[in-house]
Amino acid sequence: MFWDKKIELLPREDLEALQMAMLKKTIRAAVKSPFYGQAFSENGTTPEKVKSLDDLRRLPFTTKQDLRSGFPDGFLTVDRNKVVRMHASSGTTGTATVVYHSQKDIDRWTDLVARCLYMAGVRPSDVFQNMMSYGLFTGGLGLHYGAEALGAMVIPVGIGNSKRQIAFLQQFETTVAHIIPSYSLKLLETFDEVGIDPKKDTGLRILVVGAEPHSEEVRERIEEAYGVFAVNSYGLSEMNGPGVAFECPQKSGLHLWEDSYVLEIVNPETLEPLPDGEVGEIVLTTLRREAMPLIRYRTRDLAMVHPGTCPCGRTHRRLSRIKGRSDDMLIVKGVNVYPIQVEQVLMAFEEVGNNYLILLDREGPVDQMTVRIEVTSALLAQGIEGLEALRAKIIRRLREEILFTPKVDLVEPGMIPAGDGKAVRVIDNRQPAYCTKLRRESGGSAEGSGP
Ligand code: AMP
Ligand code: ZN
Repeated sequence: MFWDKKIELLPREDLEALQMAMLKKTIRAAVKSPFYGQAFSENGTTPEKVKSLDDLRRLPFTTKQDLRSGFPDGFLTVDRNKVVRMHASSGTTGTATVVYHSQKDIDRWTDLVARCLYMAGVRPSDVFQNMMSYGLFTGGLGLHYGAEALGAMVIPVGIGNSKRQIAFLQQFETTVAHIIPSYSLKLLETFDEVGIDPKKDTGLRILVVGAEPHSEEVRERIEEAYGVFAVNSYGLSEMNGPGVAFECPQKSGLHLWEDSYVLEIVNPETLEPLPDGEVGEIVLTTLRREAMPLIRYRTRDLAMVHPGTCPCGRTHRRLSRIKGRSDDMLIVKGVNVYPIQVEQVLMAFEEVGNNYLILLDREGPVDQMTVRIEVTSALLAQGIEGLEALRAKIIRRLREEILFTPKVDLVEPGMIPAGDGKAVRVIDNRQPAYCTKLRRESGGSAEGSGP
């Protein structure tokens, strides 16, 4: 049941004492980096002043912009010779952000990923097909090392080439795969094309899905089509990558490993702490990172902590599904909309296919939102009446959810371009090109290191 029983079941009191001890160590180390050396002296922080977890709240936040200004070595606390690996988020413009790892960091990261996989039910007898890009993106190497440490046989196939993915699934009798959720839905078209049923004709039993926001409705579709447990995996390069938070088989939130990170949820506007059960921005502090500790890193990801305890017995608190990123929020006709709200509505209709796109335009002074939606071949076969009926139902449900009436454009399966990496869900044509560029440079959602 447990990869690291003692740590996973550690009583809260002991877990918090462990966090405090590790936090003190982290701050003593972080102060050696040029960035924190300066930030702490400006803030009047000395390691001795941090005596409780509450004292952490007095320390300054670290932002993506800080990582950029510290590029490349401003956060390093060890000699460069001690660094054995780097990962970076490339970004389409501007400076990359880089994270350095010592050998200890890699070992601890690997152990966290193995812990996550074991919790989800992966065992040494499993065959693990890693359909994520290998390279600067952490989803490739991060899961690879974790699955290997667990003892599974890893197939480092990487991203794309759908027909080969399916052939490998069969030839090597893959039982667990790591895959981007939107790609797992797109792959169903190729399964269809080659006449293989992922549920009946493969031995898949677990799909590790992560790296992009996805709704419960998408999880249900994946589970139904593949006949698997689709386990939600959350992480970000700045915090290593995958291995930060992962679901247990209870499917009631993602345990965030609090022996390795301090979790805070703050109001993204006021930056004040929020209680469990309220959605805000995830802020994380690394507790076991040697080469590049980060303190109060603002992830921009929005989620809440599930109140109460998990029936699985693990004491580490549970994050909800990620609701979106604070910089992904769309303001349309003055209303705040998160793309995931649209996805939840669409994916609840069985006539809706596996891809959609939100298009934003401006007609005169008025915002216009068009939701382009692929429908199933079964619906198409019913002709125009079926399509019109679905369109009316979707418009009604969307209006209830987002409080204004969008245009709905129904298209045939496969008509919306889809890659094999993180899905592009929104095209915003309302801003002049330079605004989009500025948004990216300030750390907007166009960022990401891949896959
Ligand atoms: P990167 O550092 O390029 O790997 O991107 C990390 C970002 O991907 C996170 O900050 C989230 O915005 C997003 N992400 C990763 N995993 C998930 C997940 N399971 N659900 C939703 N978003 C995710
Ligand atoms: Zn649990």
